[in-house]
Amino acid sequence: MAGRRILCVGLTCLDVISVVETFPEEDSDTRCISQRWQRGGNASNSSTVLVQLHESCTLLSTLAPGHLARYLQADAERCGVQLIPVWVQGDCPSSVVISSLHTGSRTIVHSGKLSEVSAKDFESIDLLEYKWVHLEARAGEEQACMLRKVDLWNKERPPDKAVSTSVELEKPHKLDTYQLLGLADVVFISKDFAKHLGHSCPQDAMQGLKRGLKSRASLVCPWAEFGAWALDPDGQLIHSPAFPPPCLVDTLGAGDTFIAGVIHILSSGGSLQEAITFGCKLAGRKCGTEGYEGLA
Ligand code: ADP
Repeated sequence: MAGRRILCVGLTCLDVISVVETFPEEDSDTRCISQRWQRGGNASNSSTVLVQLHESCTLLSTLAPGHLARYLQADAERCGVQLIPVWVQGDCPSSVVISSLHTGSRTIVHSGKLSEVSAKDFESIDLLEYKWVHLEARAGEEQACMLRKVDLWNKERPPDKAVSTSVELEKPHKLDTYQLLGLADVVFISKDFAKHLGHSCPQDAMQGLKRGLKSRASLVCPWAEFGAWALDPDGQLIHSPAFPPPCLVDTLGAGDTFIAGVIHILSSGGSLQEAITFGCKLAGRKCGTEGYEGLA
């Protein structure tokens, strides 16, 4: 598999992150400890981390022309992520993030919205270059077509040329993305998504969702400071504890970092147990540092 790339499809946005000692009271006037601009978005964050893990990584994202897009493109280049923009009209998404040093919490307010990468945009991708396609679930119908295309492509190729797929289901209000559960080789379910479906713990979510998976697929569920759980293709439940940093600094993107770690190990032939353990270690390290620099 050496030499083949990982493709991430999803949002790229600007995060303006203000780090504060403690979360401010409403209608108060607070000076932050530091403020930074960061390229954000789930798939975009995972790409940044994958590159640090020495993976060649491409990010397919919609962008609207303008100064924000120029910043996002320059930042991707600086980080070594190959950003393929799909140009659309609108405002590039941005988020204001308040990151509290006291608790490590991150409070996010989103703005801006662009249309999503479509199945037609995905046709420009030469799957021969890739070993893995990861989708941040945002546009169910379109992304279902992408996953079916990869499946068909795999059927016509020898196993060593196959492209593995993963999807992260994070936003429970996007009902059309639920169909993606049954279409990818590895499905990541966020804690919020599981809770929204009425599952109070990850084990319960695994039991409830396993019937919807495609054959031989894995289900992975990170659960913040409790670590992560997964169901392997044989239906075995496995767990990794979390690896808390000496001091909790910044939990923004912990889940995206975890996903990057899991994909890195699985795409290099490691086991699911090795993958979630590595993902938890990497995400724990991320929680102890600002941003994504110096994780590997
Ligand atoms: P998200 O960032 O999407 O909300 P989670 O909060 O579930 O994702 O965290 C993803 C992973 O990050 C967890 O599985 C865990 O390994 C790690 N993690 C998150 N919060 C902590 C924490 N407080 N201490 C140690 N590890 C953490």
